Amino acid sequence: MPFTELQTELNERAAQGLLRSRCTLVTAQSPHIVVEGKPYLAFCSNDYLGLASRPELAAALQQGTQQWGVGAGAAHLVSGHFGPHHQLEQQLAAFVGKPAALLFSTGYMANLGVVQALVGKGDTVFADKLNHASLNDAMLLSRAATRRYRHGDMAQLAQLLAQAQSGRKLVITDAVFSMDGDMAPLRELLALCEQHDAWLYVDDAHGFGVLGEQGRGSLAHFGLVSARIIYMATLGKAAGVSGAFVAAEQVVVDTLVNHAHGYVYTTATPPALSVALLQSLRMIAQGDGLRAHLHRLVARLRRGLSGLPWQLMSSETAIQPLLIGDNQQALKLSEALRQRGIWVAAIRPPTVPQGTARLRITLSAAHTDADVDQLIGALHELAC
Ligand SMILES: *Cc1c(COP(=O)(O)O)cnc(C)c1O
Repeated sequence: MPFTELQTELNERAAQGLLRSRCTLVTAQSPHIVVEGKPYLAFCSNDYLGLASRPELAAALQQGTQQWGVGAGAAHLVSGHFGPHHQLEQQLAAFVGKPAALLFSTGYMANLGVVQALVGKGDTVFADKLNHASLNDAMLLSRAATRRYRHGDMAQLAQLLAQAQSGRKLVITDAVFSMDGDMAPLRELLALCEQHDAWLYVDDAHGFGVLGEQGRGSLAHFGLVSARIIYMATLGKAAGVSGAFVAAEQVVVDTLVNHAHGYVYTTATPPALSVALLQSLRMIAQGDGLRAHLHRLVARLRRGLSGLPWQLMSSETAIQPLLIGDNQQALKLSEALRQRGIWVAAIRPPTVPQGTARLRITLSAAHTDADVDQLIGALHELAC
């Protein structure tokens, strides 16, 4: 059998409690989902504002397909760049306070494309050790030298920056760390980048739509304005649709249009998605009520889960991981919740460091107080 070795590897993973598999939802994304015929209260999507299944977005998408059809039919640089793409880029740039923006099909591709286009052999990328996997892959693809600093350790980053002699320097970081929920010290990062003439690439997958005035994201949250910041946010999380964008100085965007393989060599996203995203952007900007409710839910959860044998990690965002430690125990707890009709994902290595398996609880503005109370009650029962 030509694939025996693959099966052996999978068996080993399974023995360590690390085998991954998928569950099929038969209802739309929301706190109340049906999986294999059973209803669940779910705390694992990144649909932080509950927009993914809102009828306003479905209607915009429908209207978009009526006007623009379904497929884009070509890459942006050939004949796949449509009016709604262009309009969305302009509005996104203005929303996050940058001169220009560029759409990508996914956040994963944006990260690969940006890092690969901006640095190469002879340059150095500096990265937080807890960055998202796509940023790690991006550094490898770029062929630049890579220096990883301990999570949030600005002293170590300063040392590494000082050691880099020639070439471009690019610091890359999650703004909100996806598996921990804490925020990068963006103000300090920017100060170091200024001191060492480095560029700062900020991945705001979990901040855009949620943080800052009107949901403008992590830069707005910290009040940071700087031409040396290159900003990326995804559009499939709080925005509830799909895709990603990079916002930066015009010269950076022009460079990406010319050199980012993840932009150049791929078919444009359906223009109707941009029509839906224009609607989503309006709802984000007008979403103060949703964000206030989300904030109250975070506080309610943190109050309710104090006193458990497991600690909530230090986070003020919608990502509220409960640290379990052992892989099998995290799986068991997740399974026990599932038997009670509650769905929370167990996150294990290699997604997180060894010995830090966790339940990644995520909250959404679509949750109610009663939903959160149900999770709190179940976890207290299971702790006994
Ligand atoms: C989800 C995520 C991505 C990838 O975005 P997609 O649009 O889902 O490909 C990139 N960075 C971070 C930090 C993420 O959480």
